[in-house]
Amino acid sequence: MEYISPEGLRLDGRRPMEMRQLKAQIGTVSKADGSAVFEMGNTKVLAAVYGPREVQNRSQQMNDQVLVHCQYNMANFSTGDRKRKPKGDRRSTEISLVIRQTMEACIMRHLMPRSQIDIYVQVLQADGGTRSACINAATLALVDAGIPMCDLVTSCSSGYLNSTPLLDLNYVEDSAGGPDVTVGLLPKLDKVTLLQMDAKLPIDIFENVMQLAVEGCKAVANYIREILQENTKQLEYRRGQ
Ligand code: UDP
Repeated sequence: MEYISPEGLRLDGRRPMEMRQLKAQIGTVSKADGSAVFEMGNTKVLAAVYGPREVQNRSQQMNDQVLVHCQYNMANFSTGDRKRKPKGDRRSTEISLVIRQTMEACIMRHLMPRSQIDIYVQVLQADGGTRSACINAATLALVDAGIPMCDLVTSCSSGYLNSTPLLDLNYVEDSAGGPDVTVGLLPKLDKVTLLQMDAKLPIDIFENVMQLAVEGCKAVANYIREILQENTKQLEYRRGQ
């Protein structure tokens, strides 16, 4: 199948290095300490953060840092294809772990010893790149909850199809069987905190594909900063009224 037309456009009309449209909203779950909805094209996820609060399972309590718990879940209605397994599947366990480790890289854990932060991420609509969208939503939700962080953490994926590096794969491109690289980045510190790839690539091509994902992460970071500034302005305006 041809994933790039002779005019150089992808199946959804994007150019190879073009990202899907980003959309975000902060404070979407009133009960949570922090929450956000993040959209990357047709992929839409919700993140809710609770804490820092008392550790539920005392045996897991740490005296020098906060315990971070993360749960990723795909809603049954989030995909046109039936979800492969409704509950407790290996993919969700793996993605929960990956997101937890990525978020731990930006949380200043030593400032909140003997406490727990719960991050819940729910996929509302899946069209590829749900783990990236969840990391971006979790970053916004952590900021909304006022959790001390050393940097934002943003994520984006890229792939390689028809000998062309492609940014931010959608489901059709993701399921084409080509390599799929997901990167998590601390943009201010310029540090990669997550790197996953599910196929092989020659090293020189890999470097290009990874660099593309890093550029995607930087673009997401710029967007997230804009959203946070807008949100702060709105809060100041409401306080002034
Ligand atoms: N997907 C699905 N049902 C499932 C698992 C995945 O429809 O049970 C789709 C969904 O669109 C997802 C895509 O397959 O975004 C790619 O899944 P992958 O495991 O590569 O993770 P992701 O790219 O979402 O981080």
